[in-house]
Amino acid sequence: MDGLELWAAKPADVGGLPVGRVLPRLKRRTVGAWCFVDHMGPATLDDGAAYDIAPHPHIGLQTVTWLWEGEALHRDSLGTEQQIRPGQLNLMTAGHGVSHSEERLGATSRRLHGVQFWVALPDETRDGPAAFEHHGELPRFELGPAVGTVLIGAPPVGADTATASPARRDTDHFGYDLRHRGGAATFGTDAAHEHAVFVVDGAVRLDGQALPADSFAHLAPGRDELTLEADGDAHLIVLGGTPFPTPITMFWNYVGRSSDEVRSAHAAWQAGDDDRFGVVASPFPRTLGPS
Ligand code: MN
Repeated sequence: MDGLELWAAKPADVGGLPVGRVLPRLKRRTVGAWCFVDHMGPATLDDGAAYDIAPHPHIGLQTVTWLWEGEALHRDSLGTEQQIRPGQLNLMTAGHGVSHSEERLGATSRRLHGVQFWVALPDETRDGPAAFEHHGELPRFELGPAVGTVLIGAPPVGADTATASPARRDTDHFGYDLRHRGGAATFGTDAAHEHAVFVVDGAVRLDGQALPADSFAHLAPGRDELTLEADGDAHLIVLGGTPFPTPITMFWNYVGRSSDEVRSAHAAWQAGDDDRFGVVASPFPRTLGPS
């Protein structure tokens, strides 16, 4: 199909947790402002998998955490200590600099399954102050045989509600968690937006093209609608937005506009620049990152 790229998530490991790295790819750095997507798990912790991500820095991005199973504790250098459970959203804006940890919560759940996204910040806010928000509840919508949760932005055209997510967004991007019950769901889309569909579970067809589980499809701008068909239950993530206006440079946990910029941020972190990155009240020692 015209303007469709399809690829499979790439297995990786984040501090002992098996993940499927969906974005970035060599030839696909961003979808709207979305610049990183890790499908975390599904994993049973203690069976060789861990989820204790020691304090580490970020600049120039937002982290967006969304879980389907399990729970975690977010701590950051703003003094935040926030549990997250399925159906809730954690959103941290790094701006000029922040640090945080993600820790396992006791023994209440041994399972972990979810997704970690990063959103590239625009020039207006990427050097601004850090911030954190937790959303205990997000708007839900129905669109034909699909039931969605609006993570960021407004629901798709054709949904039974127009209630947008309360989560902060600094660019024109959006994200949905979608439970498909089989049949065809048609989304009205803005031709200025690009879109991507990640299949968590099940098998779907996007405008007739088969998308297996763990695959990710990108659709270029210029469309008025997209149709997702499924033979039975399927679980999807739909992302999109206005193509990010400037090329970005990613290095470790930093998003910037040049190699000099991200390397100087890393030098500051390694030198222990607490003015820039703060301190996280975590039992884990901070991670220094690549040398
Ligand atoms: Mn992080």
